[in-house]
Amino acid sequence: MALKFYNTLTREKEDFSPIDPKEVRMYSCGPTVYNYAHIGNLRSYVFADILRKTLKYSGLNVKQVMNITDIGHLSSDADSGEDKMTKGLLREGKELTLQNMRTLAEFYTEKFKEDLNKLNIDMPDGLYYASDYVKEDVELIEKLEKKGYTYKTTDGIYFDTEKFPEYGALKGGQQKSNEESRIGVNSEKKNPADFALWKLDKKIGYPSTWGQGFPGWHIECSAMGIKFLGEQFDIHTGGIDHIPVHHTNEIAQSECATSKSPFVKFWLHHEFVDTGGEKMAKSENNFLKLSSLEEKNIKPITYRFWLLMANYHTKVNFSWEVLEGAETALKRLYNLYLGLGNDNGSVNIEYQQKFKDFIEDDLDTPKALTLLWDVLKDENVSPAYKRATVLDFDRVLGLGFEKLTKKIIPEEIKKLAEERNMARINKDFQKSDDLRKQINDLGYEVKDLGENYKISKI
Ligand code: AMP
Ligand code: ZN
Repeated sequence: MALKFYNTLTREKEDFSPIDPKEVRMYSCGPTVYNYAHIGNLRSYVFADILRKTLKYSGLNVKQVMNITDIGHLSSDADSGEDKMTKGLLREGKELTLQNMRTLAEFYTEKFKEDLNKLNIDMPDGLYYASDYVKEDVELIEKLEKKGYTYKTTDGIYFDTEKFPEYGALKGGQQKSNEESRIGVNSEKKNPADFALWKLDKKIGYPSTWGQGFPGWHIECSAMGIKFLGEQFDIHTGGIDHIPVHHTNEIAQSECATSKSPFVKFWLHHEFVDTGGEKMAKSENNFLKLSSLEEKNIKPITYRFWLLMANYHTKVNFSWEVLEGAETALKRLYNLYLGLGNDNGSVNIEYQQKFKDFIEDDLDTPKALTLLWDVLKDENVSPAYKRATVLDFDRVLGLGFEKLTKKIIPEEIKKLAEERNMARINKDFQKSDDLRKQINDLGYEVKDLGENYKISKI
């Protein structure tokens, strides 16, 4: 079976092949770093990671670029409301300067990277701060201006959607988005769908021919996508909330600036994480961070596992009960795996083919997980072959089976460590040192913790 993805642009599941057979070029909308990411946000990056790992599993090279939004994102996606970074600075009692904005961004970016690591998400090939590419934003806006796609208002430079008849194809035509109708229409806009390319700001911002201000959030993703992946590329990912405004506007400005269509061949969007039947959102104060799970002794990888139990098109409703259920199931999987021993075997080809069929069919992770259980329970497959097959699946699932292997301490080492500890407690330090050396020579080390000790691999 060939790779197939549901493409929001065509509203169909389509066969996927890269524009350049040598490399898939993929852009993932990244976080706005004015606060910690919540676990809803993190679905976006687990999803993009599964996609990227699947492409690689299918033998393709992938270049994935992600932006860090550290300027220009207003609290409404449709150019109104407070600037999110400004909100972050005010919340933390910091003076409103570009330097402080950057420091705030770097702090939350580091926290974001820690979250990615805990969820076994591979770092994108390029992770770029939007504030480092304002020059590229300005150049793109100037291009649009020269081609007559823009107009000026008292608060900025806007894109004139009427000049682009294909506007709104991603959201299924040029109807108003909920966002626009909810917030009302900026009276100077010619059309409610028109959007800011550059927002003027007298207090703080970057210099430009139009005056000091900030690039619009949408232009940042176009400019960075074009810079790092070219004027046309293969895949763009994000949450479904990006369909009507952010991604629709990215398409409009990119295609008008470059005169090339389509800007992106495949648009892939994941559903939300709800809690108590409501969308998890920073503004709703109903959000949980990854560290909130750790505080309850739930491993972050359990959250990844729980997300994979649902298809990315399915909305999921978070509760502690469902997550605890997922943790029990994951522990069972781990134990089944650990019971397989350490012998090397080959991947079971039949199971591998089924796995490939599921995962290449628009990332069917629920079916892939069911297959994982089937492999582990199949009495006709030898433990060594099971182990190899599970590790093969985990190249996509990323549940950390390989790391578990490394944690198994051989019985021989356990015995030596116990003997050494007894010698230490009995103050036979010569014996204790000799045993420590013996353990080290076998590739392990012991750390004393009061009367106890911990063994780890060197
Ligand atoms: P932000 O950091 O606000 O720019 O959002 C980062 C990503 O999180 C975007 O791709 C959003 O679509 C996504 N997102 C926001 N809220 C949720 C949610 N409750 N569930 C899933 N994804 C979300
Ligand atoms: Zn974006």
